[in-house]
Amino acid sequence: MIMKLFDTTAPLNVLDQIGVAADGPIKGYVHSVESFGAVDGPGIRFTAFLQGCRMRCQYCHNPDTWNIGVGEEMTAAQLLDDAERYKAFWGATGGITCSGGESLVQLDFLVDLFTQAKARGISTCLDTSGQPFTRDEPWFSQFKALMAVTDISLVDIKHINSTEHKKLTGFGNENILDMIEWMSANGCDMWIRHVLVPERTDDDRYLAELGDYIKTLDHVQKVEILPYHTLGVKKYHELGITYPLEGIEPPTADRVKNAEALLHTADYTGYKTWRPAQNQK
Ligand code: SF4
Repeated sequence: MIMKLFDTTAPLNVLDQIGVAADGPIKGYVHSVESFGAVDGPGIRFTAFLQGCRMRCQYCHNPDTWNIGVGEEMTAAQLLDDAERYKAFWGATGGITCSGGESLVQLDFLVDLFTQAKARGISTCLDTSGQPFTRDEPWFSQFKALMAVTDISLVDIKHINSTEHKKLTGFGNENILDMIEWMSANGCDMWIRHVLVPERTDDDRYLAELGDYIKTLDHVQKVEILPYHTLGVKKYHELGITYPLEGIEPPTADRVKNAEALLHTADYTGYKTWRPAQNQK
């Protein structure tokens, strides 16, 4: 079990099989759902946390979502039927969000889920850290199909410097920035999020660099600093994994304000009037 938690090198043919049923509808592996999410995109949203992630962010508070190919198997229709029980609360901006883990690990399922959601008139939001992104086929075409039925994406940039990104997550950031730049060039609305961790990401030089980078992007509706917290520590202990940030405390309010200034968060106000597309793009 613990060995599997650290398996970031599952062969691609395993990933290819995820969500692809021998017959019948595609099934996704769902870790859990949140009926009334208020922080997972615009408005009130039904959030599905999909199972599987290849990154190993030192501050990850959901290490129980890392394993690929486990969790509750659900079809898109089952998940949407569940979600629609809360439709009355969604208003003009709410809907469903897929988070994780890393949702893009289950790309086949996501395309099916969001396509069916848009057919039902449900707003779709993707929460991603972008790590699986590639322009290799057939993955890239599927990603484009996903973006065509995604109203907005919450994109985490873990670190602007690829070397530091690798230390923090186990992977460089080149393909992640490539994904963001593709989204910027192709009219995909985004919220950019950055977790502020003392001794890891709270560095003025890199924060300023990240702020400059975000300025080059289009369609950014909101930029958010997410202060690191220690709520996930207990899960590490339960899973028998050493917690990499033992002893690091959440950032102070002053450091959060400093990071917000360096990322110019106040300049991104599009989210205040943002509305989901009524039809597929
Ligand atoms: S990308 Fe998200 S789920 Fe994956 S390790 Fe990082 S914080 Fe955890």
